[in-house]
Amino acid sequence: MRGFARRTTVDAALAWVDGQCQRLPSEQVSVWQAAGRVLARDVVSGVSVPGFSRSMMDGFAVQAADTLGASAYSGLELQFIGQSLPGQPFDGTVGRGQAVRIMTGAPLPAGADAVVPAERAELRETRVAVLDAVSPGKNVGQAGEDVLPGATVLRAGRPLRPQDSGLLSSIGLPEMAVVRRPRVRIIITGNELLAAGTPPQGDRITDANGPMLKALVERDGGIARLRSLPLALEEDWREGVLNSAESHSALDYLVPDEPAAILAAMREDAEVVLVSGGSSVGQEDHAPLLLAQHGNLAIHGIAMRPSSPAGMGRLGGKIVFLLPGNPVSCLCAYDFFAARAIRLLGGRSAEWPYRCERLPLQRKLVSQVGRVDYARVRRVEGKAEPIAISGASILSSTTTADGFIVVPADSEGYAAGAEVNVWQY
Ligand code: AMP
Ligand code: MG
Repeated sequence: MRGFARRTTVDAALAWVDGQCQRLPSEQVSVWQAAGRVLARDVVSGVSVPGFSRSMMDGFAVQAADTLGASAYSGLELQFIGQSLPGQPFDGTVGRGQAVRIMTGAPLPAGADAVVPAERAELRETRVAVLDAVSPGKNVGQAGEDVLPGATVLRAGRPLRPQDSGLLSSIGLPEMAVVRRPRVRIIITGNELLAAGTPPQGDRITDANGPMLKALVERDGGIARLRSLPLALEEDWREGVLNSAESHSALDYLVPDEPAAILAAMREDAEVVLVSGGSSVGQEDHAPLLLAQHGNLAIHGIAMRPSSPAGMGRLGGKIVFLLPGNPVSCLCAYDFFAARAIRLLGGRSAEWPYRCERLPLQRKLVSQVGRVDYARVRRVEGKAEPIAISGASILSSTTTADGFIVVPADSEGYAAGAEVNVWQY
């Protein structure tokens, strides 16, 4: 058993991550697959939307000037000459004294410049009684009022929302360039572990980190892959199609605390490798030594709590994160470092996807100078209350918590009542 001679600061570790992560190249996806992806290039519209002027109401297309003076008491009569339906326009021209029945979304016929709503007009055989005056342009959607040709509708770097897919479709794009999703290999080590879905028995515990890390990776836009999938499914992974781990629970995805097995798992194809467990300096902690021998162990031991036995480095083209097995440490180390890498590779902002709220502390929070503290808190009556039982192995401290506070390395903590940033899970 070795000890940590010195620990790297959190800031230095973050800087290392930033230096390793270039945005991945783009790939084309269909407009059906775009939501949730990050746009790789600006999108400029080649068309106007709508491409024609159209009615915003069911009613009658007219020349506005013909309706001057019309009211419920003195209806004006126009000649009824036909109808315009969506996709089936009226092919004549509306002249003075004429009206065309029109439906919402139907093209405004030539000659007309306004629509009298159906409830303000009455069709009487071949005549239309208009009961209200309309001004030019009334109830008409102008060509290009949504999107003009040449307009940049969405910019590179945008995580696409569902309505963005709608807009991209409306300008006629069949597919678009998005940033490729980083493929993230999750390696769960520990001889004491049982696979997710198995009840804990005797001195064995059930893996908590596998399902947690898979969900975190997907939150950050990565494609999560646990080990030991049959080859056919691996092919799907390369295509980015299959990313469901539910089918894994029956499979033996756990990796024993054996150097050869861990090294083989770390060498599998991916952009990012997460190793859970065995990240420290104990006799069963092989991953740091393997990384030092076969790649580059850039950082090992970080001045923070929890997660101090975390590490990171490179193996071939891959970025490897060594995450402590204690579930709270695993979550914290993932969120500080691995999440950042996955987000940057995928073209996303390095920022946490947690909302941040300023709250007064309900009681004093003590922290040691020289290390960053990750303190779970509950929100009680508008105040942040630190969770009492908060060891690195107590995962329920993160489920009873509403969020967490990061106490910087140079701080001794905060007095009761001090305003702090609470990151909400
Ligand atoms: P390690 O980092 O391997 O030294 O593990 C530290 C502690 O976390 C030990 O009590 C392990 O049993 C526990 N642990 C390791 N991996 C997991 C996991 N995947 N799920 C839950 N607990 C774990
Ligand atoms: Mg272990």
